[in-house]
Amino acid sequence: WRVLGIESSCDETGVAVVECSPGAPPRLLAQGLHSQIAMHQAYGGVVPELASRDHIRRVLPLTRQALAEAGLALADLDAIAYTQGPGLAGALLVGAGAAVALAASLGLPALPVHHLEGHLLSPFLSADPPEFPFVCLLVSGGHTQLMRVQGVSEYELLGETIDDAAGEAFDKSAKLLGLPYPGGPHLARLAEQGRADAFPLPRPLLHSGDLNFSFAGLKTAVLTQARKLPAGDAQTQANLAASTQAAIVEVLVRKSLAALKLTGLKRLVVAGGVGANRRLREQLNEACQRRGVRVHYPELALCTDNGAMIALAAAMRWQTQVADAQPTYSFEVHPRWPLAMV
Ligand code: ATP
Ligand code: MG
Ligand code: FE
Repeated sequence: WRVLGIESSCDETGVAVVECSPGAPPRLLAQGLHSQIAMHQAYGGVVPELASRDHIRRVLPLTRQALAEAGLALADLDAIAYTQGPGLAGALLVGAGAAVALAASLGLPALPVHHLEGHLLSPFLSADPPEFPFVCLLVSGGHTQLMRVQGVSEYELLGETIDDAAGEAFDKSAKLLGLPYPGGPHLARLAEQGRADAFPLPRPLLHSGDLNFSFAGLKTAVLTQARKLPAGDAQTQANLAASTQAAIVEVLVRKSLAALKLTGLKRLVVAGGVGANRRLREQLNEACQRRGVRVHYPELALCTDNGAMIALAAAMRWQTQVADAQPTYSFEVHPRWPLAMV
C-alpha cells in the first residue's frame, strides 16, 4: 500500500510517497522538498510565523509534484501521514491541516507521526537497511539521544543531552566563526582544511559514567577561542572548526560505544541531520568495525527533514491494519512531545 507523507515541523516542507508490500523493503516512489533556509538566513535563525506562511505556499504544489513524479493520482493512495510534533506549532498545523483535509476528501485514514520516529526509521529506506533490535544515535538540530530500539514504536531512552543538541552545537559554533546559518554543514566543510588537534577543546560528560551529553560548555570554549582569532587568518579559523568538530564527534562516538556495550547489542543506527557529517561517519565506522558492530545510516539526502521519513514511519507503524480503521478527521499537534510517549 502507498502512503503520502507531509513534513512541516520546522523550516522544510517535505512531501513524499512511500510504497510497502509484504515481504519487500519499503520503497520511496517520489519526493518533493522545499527548504526555507534562504528565507530565514537574513534573521540568523527560523522565524516561526514566516515558516508557517511558507509551508502554506508550498505544501500543495509539492504534493502535486511528488504525485506526478511517482506517476500516481490521488486515488492511488491508501493513507495520508503528517508530522504531529514535536516542532513549531504554527508550522505543524499547516502540514496537519493539509494532510487531514486531503484524507477527508479522499475518505482515507490520516496518520499522525512523531517527527523523531521519522528520523529514527529513515535508514530503513537506505540501500543497507538495519534489522531490529539496535541502538539508535539520534543527532539532529533539536535532539541528541541514545535509544534502545526493539521494534517499531518500542523505544527506550538510554541518555540524552542535558542542554544543547549536537546540531545546535555545530550551528552555534559556526555562528561564532562567522559562518552562515545553519552552520553545521559549513563548519564541517571548513574543518576539512583544518587541524583537529590545534585547539584543546573540552569533551563534556565524556567520563560521566552515564549516556548523557552536554554541549553548552563547548560553545563557550569556542567563543573564548573565536574572540582571540587573528582577523583574516583563514588557517587558524579552519583549525578551530576542525577542533570543534572533533570534540563533538568524539563525544558522540564514545557514548555510542558505551551504549552498545551496556545493551550488548551489535547494531548501531544513526539518524538526524548530524548523521550526514562525514567525520562522524568515518569515526563511527572505524570504531564499530573494530568491535564487530554494524552501523546503518540514512541516505545523505534523508538525514535532514523530509517527507519520506514521515510516510515511511506511518507505513511501518500501521502496516496494513490501517485499512480496517475507522477514519477520524479531528486533529491536534504536539509542539513538545517526548518520543518515549509514542
Ligand atoms: P529536530 O529533528 O531535532 O526537531 P531539526 O529537524 O532541525 O531538529 P535535522 O533536520 O535533523 O534537525 O538536522 C538539522 C541539523 O543538522 C542542523 O543543526 C545542521 O547544522 C545539522 N547538520 C546537517 N548537516 C551536517 C553536517 N554535514 N555536519 C554537521 N551538522 C550537520
Ligand atoms: Mg531544518
Ligand atoms: Fe528533524
